[in-house]
Amino acid sequence: MQTLSTPPTAPDASPRNPKIEASKTEEFVPTIIRRKTRSVSVGDVSIGSSHPVAVQSMINEDTLDIDGSVAGIRRLHEAGCEIVRVTVPSMAHARALTEIKAKLAQTYQTVPLVADVHHNGMKIALEVAKHVDKVRINPGLYVFEKPSSDRTEYTSEEFASIGQKIQQTLEPLVISLRDQGKAMRIGVNHGSLAERMLFTYGDTPEGMVESALEFIRICESLNFHNLIISLKASRVPVMLAAYRLMVKRMDELGMDYPLHLGVTEAGDGEYGRIKSTAGIGTLLALGIGDTIRVSLTEAPEKEIPVCYSILQALGLRKTMVEYVACPSCGRTLFNLEEVLHKVREATSHLTGLDIAVMGCIVNGPGEMADADYGYVGKQPGTIALYRGREEIKRVPETEGVAQLIDLIKSDGRWVEPDAEAEITVETESATVQADPVGAGI
Ligand code: SF4
Repeated sequence: MQTLSTPPTAPDASPRNPKIEASKTEEFVPTIIRRKTRSVSVGDVSIGSSHPVAVQSMINEDTLDIDGSVAGIRRLHEAGCEIVRVTVPSMAHARALTEIKAKLAQTYQTVPLVADVHHNGMKIALEVAKHVDKVRINPGLYVFEKPSSDRTEYTSEEFASIGQKIQQTLEPLVISLRDQGKAMRIGVNHGSLAERMLFTYGDTPEGMVESALEFIRICESLNFHNLIISLKASRVPVMLAAYRLMVKRMDELGMDYPLHLGVTEAGDGEYGRIKSTAGIGTLLALGIGDTIRVSLTEAPEKEIPVCYSILQALGLRKTMVEYVACPSCGRTLFNLEEVLHKVREATSHLTGLDIAVMGCIVNGPGEMADADYGYVGKQPGTIALYRGREEIKRVPETEGVAQLIDLIKSDGRWVEPDAEAEITVETESATVQADPVGAGI
């Protein structure tokens, strides 16, 4: 029979115990402390350092379709995407970027653009580097060695000789980007590690990290530091391990490059969003990550609200109203789902406010998490409106939403829906322009 030992005597956990209060304050700061990184500019967006975590995505139009690409970039930018990536599989695609950029400037505005360069893309990368703000290269594909089925190992000489070929191939691109003050993303993908990395380090986070480091060292040898690093994988645990190992290695080596986070091939729908949030959110919560992309098998603009929701939930950016609502239970005094919906419809443009909708006064006021305003069930047919923790008035439930709006207006915190783009919101880490479209988030 299992014997249970007496539990150790718990320390006095009373909230009035000043020792415990002090240590709580020291150890549990409810703000994410971001890893210190350098600032890298991509057009007029800065990534890293104390800049807000930037949101990016990628159009799925063919870059040769100029009008389609311009429309796709504009759609994404209007949805709140701050940096837009396009794919550049050929020289013709690279040249098309001149026209895309010009048309954007004529018909809309300048948007920070990134070009994705793949297999043996040196010449393409050199051309496109003239037209975009950042070039993304995949170390596993940039100098592509066809895998051979009869190979069993890479000698250190063979490994080094390919390394030299990579150095020669990468140099002109690095020099071009460096001299133009542009940026490069070294974007490692778990699924496309170079064969020599696979043989040497295995199909592992270590292989991903070493692959990135090899390219970083080449850039550093040419005094180029406008680098952003990514180590994406479709499996969240692999992606988490790779980014964490990268941070460890960069710390050891004194490198401070910003990180671009993403779970690649996350799929679609609810699971795609959860998978992305599990990967990206976990790292951000650890203070890791300076720009994010949620990759969904859906229209690219659907990725943007997910990015903003992750950032808002972690307190890293505030681009929408934060709603606090209880799940409802037997004590609930009104139709919570319906009321929350009405409150949201009336107030979702008031970016920066925290509004609580709670079913009863038993737990509601205490659990409103310091919301600016609260709508709380008081008794059947009556609700109480709160400002912070203070009950301001009791009103019939039928007038609840209108009276909440009046209360916000009387505090001078109401703006008309069409004025929302003017709002600027302070977050812990930066000043962020409010999402111009409310982002439907
Ligand atoms: S706040 Fe009240 S109604 Fe809502 S879940 Fe808690 S006890 Fe139930």
